[in-house]
Amino acid sequence: MIKPKTEEEIELLRENAIIVSKTLAEVGKAVAPGVTTKELNRVAETFIRDNGAIPSFLGFEGFPAAICASVNDTVVHGFPSDYVLKEGDIVTADIGTLYKGYNGDSAYTFPVGEVDAKTRKLLDVTKASLYKGIEAAVAGARTGDIGYAVQSYVESFGFSVVRELEGHGIGREMHEQPGVPNFGRPGRGTHLVDGVVICIEPMVNAGSRAVYLARNGWAVRTSDHSNAAHYELTVVVRKGRAEQLSTFDFIEKDPTINF
Ligand code: MG
Ligand code: MG
Repeated sequence: MIKPKTEEEIELLRENAIIVSKTLAEVGKAVAPGVTTKELNRVAETFIRDNGAIPSFLGFEGFPAAICASVNDTVVHGFPSDYVLKEGDIVTADIGTLYKGYNGDSAYTFPVGEVDAKTRKLLDVTKASLYKGIEAAVAGARTGDIGYAVQSYVESFGFSVVRELEGHGIGREMHEQPGVPNFGRPGRGTHLVDGVVICIEPMVNAGSRAVYLARNGWAVRTSDHSNAAHYELTVVVRKGRAEQLSTFDFIEKDPTINF
């Protein structure tokens, strides 16, 4: 059983979640063919600091940047670099903040210009699987219910779920208990009670679920080099329906952002 957060803690987590959500939208505004992933990092870091927060990924276990920028077959933990985005790419921005002693953490995969039909489907299915997971994150459920909801949805489209990485609790630490796998069996795993705050973050491959760690020791890439998508939101487990702390509304209600 995981200890729930107090309502005061949840409000601080909400403040972080809003900053992260807005930062993702700032990154989304900058995504375009011809832009480097380093530039996305610069945009995000500037916005986070301008809002009085700290980019929590920078220096985390030695991570060298404010955001993870993972292109195409990189699932997660890509380093922002001089790579120039081109039409048809996808890029995941995964962003964390530290503000008033608490953490924020959310991610979104953006298309760069027009992407092919299979990639478009990968983005749509991965994001929808996140909402399936959120629907399952209710008081009385267990983490396996979330994992099952994500996995069964994703696999029904012929895509595959990465199993080596998972969602997590969040609070004063970026990664707290419980682990929230994106696969599993209903009725198994950690019990969820009202007030537990978790990040749900499906990582989905267009091809096989196999991944490998790149030589830099960070980037996780698909073994078959198929594209991978990753969406993450922070939610509070509640009775009946989870409460979202972070949101994609700043992205999806902005007509200038390609999503
Ligand atoms: Mg994240
Ligand atoms: Mg996370």
